[in-house]
Amino acid sequence: MIETNSSLKAFNTFSIEAKTQTLFHFNNIKQAAELAALVKEMRAADKPVLILGGGSNILFCEDFSGLVIKVELSGVDIKESDSDYIVQAAAGEDWHQLVTNCIEKGIDGLENLALIPGVVGAAPVQNIGAYGTEFKDFCESVEYLDLNSGEFFKLNAQQCLFAYRDSIFKTAAMHSALITKVTMKLSKQWQAHSRYGLLKELDSSAKVTAKQIYQSVCQIRSEKLPDPELLGNAGSFFKNPVVSQELAAKLSALYPQMPCYPQEDCRVKLAAGWLIDQAGLKGTKFGGAAVHQNQALVLINENNASALDIVQLAELVRTTVKEKFSVELEHEVRFMGCRGETNLSEVIKNVRA
Ligand SMILES: Cc1cc2nc3c(=O)[nH]c(=O)nc-3n(C[C@H](O)[C@H](O)[C@H](O)COP(=O)(O)OP(=O)(O)OC[C@H]3O[C@@H](n4cnc5c(N)ncnc54)[C@H](O)[C@@H]3O)c2cc1C
Repeated sequence: MIETNSSLKAFNTFSIEAKTQTLFHFNNIKQAAELAALVKEMRAADKPVLILGGGSNILFCEDFSGLVIKVELSGVDIKESDSDYIVQAAAGEDWHQLVTNCIEKGIDGLENLALIPGVVGAAPVQNIGAYGTEFKDFCESVEYLDLNSGEFFKLNAQQCLFAYRDSIFKTAAMHSALITKVTMKLSKQWQAHSRYGLLKELDSSAKVTAKQIYQSVCQIRSEKLPDPELLGNAGSFFKNPVVSQELAAKLSALYPQMPCYPQEDCRVKLAAGWLIDQAGLKGTKFGGAAVHQNQALVLINENNASALDIVQLAELVRTTVKEKFSVELEHEVRFMGCRGETNLSEVIKNVRA
């Protein structure tokens, strides 16, 4: 179904009012040829194209002047071999519902990734991760529709070039690959990943089960993170910054309690939430936007915020952290301008122009 001049407010978890010129509900794979033709038409007219899942990682900074493809493909298929379960899910399936259904069927592995909002097709894009596991740990392959040619392709996990909150779908294939289906391999030789953060408390129980981890993850997340249904937000607004060993050592000397996670490449990952909290920014407001009182990494739509309220609050956070710690925060949330993807610096430059 195609709509014109449609509101996107219900399709982004910040609940920001923005309109798109054209909205295509992609709910049947048989629409692929029609969709590819529409994309071609849009591109010929120099109009931007955006693939949209649940809108839980997107900030619409203004009305979108092109085509939004709302991915609503459904269907799950589970097969098993002696050693593994093979879970195939269509891109429009709700991620958390898939995790829950797997756990209820005794198919373990995805429990640490419970309660991450959004749909299955978005999971490979930023290689979603939480509590010590990432999508890439289970990914067997990703199928996509090439929007330029209308043809279907399949990439194995290695070809997806997964990295921390990154993949080929955020880089080389960003504007052309519409993910239609993912296949995950979940080993029957299940191993708990419960040594991360608050889940460590479960470690004392020698026989911790996937269901217990699932329940703890759901409980911790519901206590820690605001529910987007009640308070607009897009989860972690900034990525955890990775800095040089020198800078990490300098900061550790000044702030011995600062969390540091040495990386394989000799650089050091810092906790963005900790830096924002220590910069005294919890509860800081700009218009209707605020830094969450309990979770510094989350910016919220507290009171009918405009996109620019959120953008200006994000800039305040970025500059304050930079001044205090010399650390540059990069946003994890994708910024969408009227002509396609943009970023914090660009939007701020336009606001000030
Ligand atoms: C409260 C809260 C907590 C969160 N916690 C976490 C967390 O712990 N870990 C984590 O990693 N993320 C987290 N997130 C971020 C978000 O949930 C994930 O990034 C999620 O995968 C986004 O899914 P979505 O369907 O909403 O994607 P959208 O926001 O709709 O899209 C995100 C990006 O993926 C692209 N995309 C979407 N679908 C497709 C497709 N089928 N094909 C190609 N590209 C596509 C879009 O173009 C866009 O660039 C959280 C968000 C919220 C609101």
